[in-house]
Amino acid sequence: MNNQYIKYALYGLSTVIATELVYNYFRRWMKRCAEIRASRTESEIADVIWINEHTQDCAVKSEKNSPKFFHNGNKCKNMFCYPRNIRKIIKFIDNAKYSIDLSMYIFTSNELALAFHRAIKRGLQIRIVSDQEMCFSSGSRITELTKCGIPVRFPNATNMLMHHKFCILDGPGRSRALSKMQKKPFENSQGILFTGSLNWTHQGFNANFENMLITSNSKLVEKFEEEFERMWLSFNGQDLNS
Ligand SMILES: [Zn+2]
Repeated sequence: MNNQYIKYALYGLSTVIATELVYNYFRRWMKRCAEIRASRTESEIADVIWINEHTQDCAVKSEKNSPKFFHNGNKCKNMFCYPRNIRKIIKFIDNAKYSIDLSMYIFTSNELALAFHRAIKRGLQIRIVSDQEMCFSSGSRITELTKCGIPVRFPNATNMLMHHKFCILDGPGRSRALSKMQKKPFENSQGILFTGSLNWTHQGFNANFENMLITSNSKLVEKFEEEFERMWLSFNGQDLNS
């Protein structure tokens, strides 16, 4: 057989094999991407806490049956129940590993302040942006948290309220920055965002119509992280002294 023909046949065979390899690799890569996308969607947290007239029903029962906060354990069937709502939030805070960035107009909740104290003990890096006047309002837990070493900043603009009610747990951007600062590797964290109308007050959790969105959507977490970081840098020098 002519050497020329053998050469062409080998070229042809090599091309077929190479095409097959590339195609199989591409197919496996597409499948893996689809699996990653599916696992992200499945594990993405998307929840809402609603506070409405049914929240008060449960609070009344709670006071009648037991003055303790964790009334009825985990068996409460009222999905608008105050202890159930606050327990859900506390669970997320208690599971945070690295950081909490809170931007809150009014913070008087004892239960959530205790969760912050536990977070301090676990070594989390916490920052708070709040309203200067509300930091000193009756029942505010902000000054107490400042005394525990949590830095608090507020805007200087006297004609604008710092009216946000959002909190970021383990924001990926913040985790990366802390990892760099502390020169130690941090696991990839799934940031959690709380945001909505709810001030962290007894009134807010019990007696107003309110909502709080809970999400781990990476794009939303990133956008809130960016605004928190922007405010934090912008309010530099406007610190609440312990
Ligand atoms: Zn209940």
